[in-house]
Amino acid sequence: MTGRAFVVPAEATRILPAVGDLIDHPDVRVMQLRALGDVEVSLDPEFVPRECEWCLGSRRITTVRVHGAPDPHDPHRPLLMAEACHPCALRPYGPIRQALVERIDFTRPVQLEVCP
Ligand SMILES: [Zn+2]
Repeated sequence: MTGRAFVVPAEATRILPAVGDLIDHPDVRVMQLRALGDVEVSLDPEFVPRECEWCLGSRRITTVRVHGAPDPHDPHRPLLMAEACHPCALRPYGPIRQALVERIDFTRPVQLEVCP
């Protein structure tokens, strides 16, 4: 077998109990994400945290999933879906800001899902 390692759910659930020690309560994270503007945040009980690819090497885990809704003809590789750690998600040039700018319909909030 070659290619990237895949984290199977059974392994992921062994990681999860420790996650609560590393990240804020979901209510706190949701409040901070909502402060970014036109977003709709829901909790995804099945969210499996992984290493954040927006700050590789930081050892931070992903806690939020961002669903972009860009113009399907946008040639600039717009964000369709991304998972990031909380600090990356809040950054001025992070995935949420990107999705807010790129969305095709500015009357529809950007959809976010957070881990428990
Ligand atoms: Zn990150």
